[in-house]
Amino acid sequence: MEQNEECILSKEYSLEKFPLENALEIILMFDAAGRITYANSAAKKKLEYESDLCGRHISDVFPNTFKPDKDILESEFAFGYEPYSIVAYRKNLTCFPVEARIMRAGDSSGMYICMANDILEKEFLNKEVEKVRQEAQQALKVKSEFVANVTHELRTPVNGVLGNVRELLSDETDERKKKQFLLIQRCCDDMNKIINNILDFSKLEAGKFTLELREFNFRNMLDYVKSNHINKITEKGLGFFMTVSPQIPENIIGDELRIVQILNNLLSNAQKFTALGKITVEVLKTAQINDKIELFFIVTDTGIGIDKADKEKLFRSFSQVDASISRKYGGTGLGLNICKQLVELMGGRIEVESRKNKGSTFSFSIWVDSCGEKDNTSSQNDSKISVFSIENAEEGAENETDAKMYGTPENKENLKKTLSKLILCVEMENWEKAEMFMETIRQLTEDAPHDIKRIVLRLKMAVQKENYDKAAAGFEELNNYL
Ligand code: ADP
Repeated sequence: MEQNEECILSKEYSLEKFPLENALEIILMFDAAGRITYANSAAKKKLEYESDLCGRHISDVFPNTFKPDKDILESEFAFGYEPYSIVAYRKNLTCFPVEARIMRAGDSSGMYICMANDILEKEFLNKEVEKVRQEAQQALKVKSEFVANVTHELRTPVNGVLGNVRELLSDETDERKKKQFLLIQRCCDDMNKIINNILDFSKLEAGKFTLELREFNFRNMLDYVKSNHINKITEKGLGFFMTVSPQIPENIIGDELRIVQILNNLLSNAQKFTALGKITVEVLKTAQINDKIELFFIVTDTGIGIDKADKEKLFRSFSQVDASISRKYGGTGLGLNICKQLVELMGGRIEVESRKNKGSTFSFSIWVDSCGEKDNTSSQNDSKISVFSIENAEEGAENETDAKMYGTPENKENLKKTLSKLILCVEMENWEKAEMFMETIRQLTEDAPHDIKRIVLRLKMAVQKENYDKAAAGFEELNNYL
């Protein structure tokens, strides 16, 4: 090949096969006689040639490694994937060290390929990367210290206002003023939530967040979560159902506060984005390895749902599905990102399934310690514990068991009430709400005789299919039976 011939890869080594041209390392190909047949742009640039690199002998570039200009390539170089430090010479005979891998082409062409990195440049780049990494870490530290200071400074006056408002509220008799104080109190609570979110987020981002593991009663924790939301949920006329697998022990070891935080966030969102229908929480035990158990939480709503495209954005920080949502519903877009990081700290993952205008299901898993307790399946007070709907949430928990037992006066009373609410929803073709009452009816007839259960099932299907005639007929049938 002539020295000035255009440096082109032969067909067997076409650029589609080897996207080498724009690689950052020096890439040379040469034949069995040592003639260079291809040099990529980095090779020409670093060795300070133009297209005249092709046609040269490989010993012009590596004179200490290859014998010059022989018909058959002579070298003691150990060809292979292992990199070796050798010296490369530029056209002007100055040199620099490289880390090179020279291999024979795996075919019958007798070609060689050489890939070489400038060692000094690599070291320089490594130092630069390390410098940038340290600067970024320092910046993160400064930022988290700043956030910690600012949030602390904000929290003090907010709590000052809160304390005074509570005092004023307790002495106030004027209803109008009371309403104003309550509003101030609510604003302060909201501000505290935002401050806490920012603080958590910055700690998590800086890797300074630690979990506080303690033993606690799992069902009491869920009751506490429920008490945080039940008023708002029922005020909106939504149904609320919570079921817990009997396999979950009474006491577990984990970070109670943070589990509450995740559930609070998911339930606040569920409540915020649902105008009609129901919210359900289900907790299952999905795995056990020695004393460690995996808990799986499912929070479902029948709210506005999330577009497929927007699902990707959900768990990123400061991410809300769109600006109109944040204007209408408020929020900082930090909640789900914090949930994701907390769940991952607890060894699990969080996911979402959703359909626009149909509702969303957020599920997450975490690993906790079972405190050495065995399966709780046989425990007396541990059948699918809490099943709350609008009615029984108002009536209290005492007669819950009676209400669930088919045939008791409480059960009859509840069934009648729920049926009349159901038919109202059917008449108004409010199917989402009808489904919610249907679920209550299903639970209230769980241990009813078979023929009643069959009527309930038919009614349930009619409601699910939004079939007015069949739902009305099913209602009549069940009502007559009762
Ligand atoms: P925010 O505090 O703003 O609610 P989140 O991170 O908790 O922040 O939620 C981010 C966004 O995800 C919300 O603004 C909303 O657009 C969407 N989102 C979260 N939960 C739901 C839900 N249950 N239904 C519909 N959209 C939701």
